[in-house]
Amino acid sequence: MFITSSKAELKAYLTTQKNNEKTIGFVATMGALHNGHMALVEQSKEETDITVCSIFVNPTQFNNPSDLEKYPRNLKKDIDLLDLHHCDAVFTPSPEEMYTQGEKAKEYDFGGIEILMEGKFRPGHFNGVGTIINKLFRLIEPDKAYFGKKDYQQLLVIQKLAEIENLPTEVIGCEIQREKNGLAMSSRNERLSEEAKEKCGFIYQQLLWARDQFTELSLPEIHEKINKAFSDRPLFDLEYFAIVDADSMQPITEKININHVRAFIAVHVEGVRLIDNEALN
Ligand code: AMP
Repeated sequence: MFITSSKAELKAYLTTQKNNEKTIGFVATMGALHNGHMALVEQSKEETDITVCSIFVNPTQFNNPSDLEKYPRNLKKDIDLLDLHHCDAVFTPSPEEMYTQGEKAKEYDFGGIEILMEGKFRPGHFNGVGTIINKLFRLIEPDKAYFGKKDYQQLLVIQKLAEIENLPTEVIGCEIQREKNGLAMSSRNERLSEEAKEKCGFIYQQLLWARDQFTELSLPEIHEKINKAFSDRPLFDLEYFAIVDADSMQPITEKININHVRAFIAVHVEGVRLIDNEALN
């Protein structure tokens, strides 16, 4: 496996691959890798010749400095896992390699999706995501890039970014990988106690309940029941539960003229912010 923290070295490696007519698949991560990330690597390996994974905790997408500081980092373990999955190349740049001193995130207009939900609760977050993915796409020039539906809004933002920045990469959404109890795999789960991890199966259960009730109950009833279910459990501090149009991310207020609908949850557990989502129809 080719490992580098240098843009120039990565570029040289990729130029050789492209000269040999290899197609490039790209998986962008912030490390603390788990089987959710590996599903993206596996899909890239199936669909392209050379899979590149980046590991970079991107400072410009964190609006909360303590969240950035506490973000789990374990490079050695990550590299071992990527090696086990036969990833071809790993890019592990420093912040200085990706940003000039004092550089701020570029300001994007993603058509309104960036100011809702994750964008609303994490101001500037999607500008940071757009800035780093634009840099990585321009460096790597992948044929295909793989992103998880776990961060569904981010997936839509990146598809929009490719359009705005005129990037030829095909952006592919991959299904959410879960623990046995339904908890969506996440690097942040490492910060939860074993007991909390077990109880967090509840988050997905609520999404499934909303899916099952979607045709039966009214939207206000679903909202009310889910809000109550979380407020009855002191372990959970619900930030939002939202039912939205899966293409525009606009909240759905009635069930007429609906296309793809998804439910989204952001919840704090033991000081860790968790997100999850599920298609309702
Ligand atoms: P992160 O390291 O959290 O920035 O995630 C890197 C990529 O892995 C993003 O495209 C995420 O959506 C994706 N990802 C993270 N967790 C999962 C999961 N449980 N299932 C599928 N994809 C995931």
